[in-house]
Amino acid sequence: MSQYPSLYMIIDGERVDGGSRRTHAVVNPATGEVIGQLPLADPADLDRALAVAAEGFRIWRDSTAQQRAAVLQGAARLMLERQEDIARTATLEQGKPLAESRIEVLMNVGLFNFYAGEVQRLYGRTLVRPTGMRSTVTHEPVGPVAAFAPWNFPIGNPGRKLGAPIAAGCSVILKSAEEAPASALAVLQCLLDAGLPKQVAQAVFGVPDEVSRHLLGSPIIRKLSFTGSTVVGKHLARLATENMQRTTMELGGHGPVLVFDDVDVEHVLNAVVPHKYRNAGQVCVSPTRFIVQQGVYDRFRESFAQRAQAIKVGNGLDDGTQMGPMANPRRPEAMDKLIGDAVQRGAKLHCGGERIGNQGYFYAPSVLSDVPLDAEIMNEEPFGPVAILNAYADEDAMIAEANRLPYGLAAYAWTTDAKRQQRLSRLLEAGMVGINTTMIGGADAPFGGVKWSGHGSEDGPEGVLACMVTKAVHEG
Ligand code: NAD
Repeated sequence: MSQYPSLYMIIDGERVDGGSRRTHAVVNPATGEVIGQLPLADPADLDRALAVAAEGFRIWRDSTAQQRAAVLQGAARLMLERQEDIARTATLEQGKPLAESRIEVLMNVGLFNFYAGEVQRLYGRTLVRPTGMRSTVTHEPVGPVAAFAPWNFPIGNPGRKLGAPIAAGCSVILKSAEEAPASALAVLQCLLDAGLPKQVAQAVFGVPDEVSRHLLGSPIIRKLSFTGSTVVGKHLARLATENMQRTTMELGGHGPVLVFDDVDVEHVLNAVVPHKYRNAGQVCVSPTRFIVQQGVYDRFRESFAQRAQAIKVGNGLDDGTQMGPMANPRRPEAMDKLIGDAVQRGAKLHCGGERIGNQGYFYAPSVLSDVPLDAEIMNEEPFGPVAILNAYADEDAMIAEANRLPYGLAAYAWTTDAKRQQRLSRLLEAGMVGINTTMIGGADAPFGGVKWSGHGSEDGPEGVLACMVTKAVHEG
């Protein structure tokens, strides 16, 4: 199937489109062609979704753990059955290689199955009290959730945004990115087909600022879950204070990678180079600043650039493509601007730094070295296929550079010194640290950041608890 599906919203289980609604043109980033027209919500659509979400919460908060587990497991099975269609849809609308889209489906399958188990382990506790008194602490679902998912993981982000509230017993209104809507609809459809009551999860699209103001302006919504840029995250967090909605904020990063003299350079590059250019670098945990100790710096830089140049860039649907286009025209523009600024300030460009072809949004894998600290790219999340390589003398200077920015999402370090590994685990200011590995996620592990990278976690037991409130009950 290379055909792109039709687009709609799902409100109260109905496919909603047409009428006088505005539309958004969805574009295939590999070709620049319009592949679909997405209907955008008007205020009446959002009011209807809110009323249904209130009803959905009343239904789902009283569901049993077994009912929730059955829906999540059923949806996981359906996603696996529909893996190829969902993956192709994601590649058509977002551009990433098909193999990466297939992995996204598997990530959702793993997460839904994990949550299906976790929902059966939502224990409370009993407090020891003087005779005749009993106190218990329980977790209850927080209420209807407004969830905003970005375009970079068009299958995985909606999976996270839907899975946790549903496991916790909440209802959810999902607004996934307008750029890649069909994958989100396919994920929601799996849940509905697996028996999720239609009131529990809905999908709307719209002008992002209108939708977020409308939903967060309603006291029906009890929680905001957002993944996206720090600037938008701060704006939404401010909106959420009005109704004191709880928040999970998964925001930007600027991943430092510390590489020490004691490593096998080629072994490290085998791991970090594919990780850098995965999804054309449009990943919040992407390794960005390579903070390399002097003794291995020259070798690391040369081999890095050779490997980057060898990456096969092309349409994500074609066999052998290792990196697809960027997801939208804003990203190549941002790359030109950030790389141009760095070079103008004295950085060396080893490869890339330019667009590829005149069709779609392709950008060449790029490597910069010796980039001064005042370059914009050293301070702003590039969110693209560019690596920054700089040399440092010792561990203290390397840690100081890693922690210099207000971001704290993912940090990586490569060293064979066991004592140093422990120090780095403690001292790196990040929500997720990879020591000698790039594998920092998993259905059972919390995913989230500190500082300006946000707060709260998705995945793991923490992801479900983030959709719950605690209640203490004291009986005399
Ligand atoms: P953006 O900041 O305009 O949008 C980021 C995301 O937030 C998009 O999905 C968008 O639909 C949504 N959004 C924007 N304004 C919103 C609002 N008022 N209410 C609700 N949602 C809103 O930028 P962009 O051009 O789409 O992406 C650029 C930057 O966003 C990147 O450089 C990166 O820093 C960040 N980003 C981060 C992630 C992530 O996984 N953390 C994903 C996508 C984008």
